[in-house]
Amino acid sequence: MFNCKECEERLYTFLDRELDEAEQREVREHLDRCPPCVDRFRFEGNVLHAIGAIGRKGGCPDEARKRILRACGKEALI
Ligand SMILES: [Zn+2]
Repeated sequence: MFNCKECEERLYTFLDRELDEAEQREVREHLDRCPPCVDRFRFEGNVLHAIGAIGRKGGCPDEARKRILRACGKEALI
């Protein structure tokens, strides 16, 4: 099973639904046991949703995404 760090590393891939089935299952199993990670995933999911909305309006999703990731202290993911 994934630990928190492994789970977090896959967060964006998971939210983009680009993980293979085995990895998705591992992430879900971790989330079943780890409420703090559920919160993080939920938060990031909302952020991604917001980025999608901004992207549709502004037509510049990459810049918006970078700005939001920086604002969230997630520069490493840019
Ligand atoms: Zn966790």
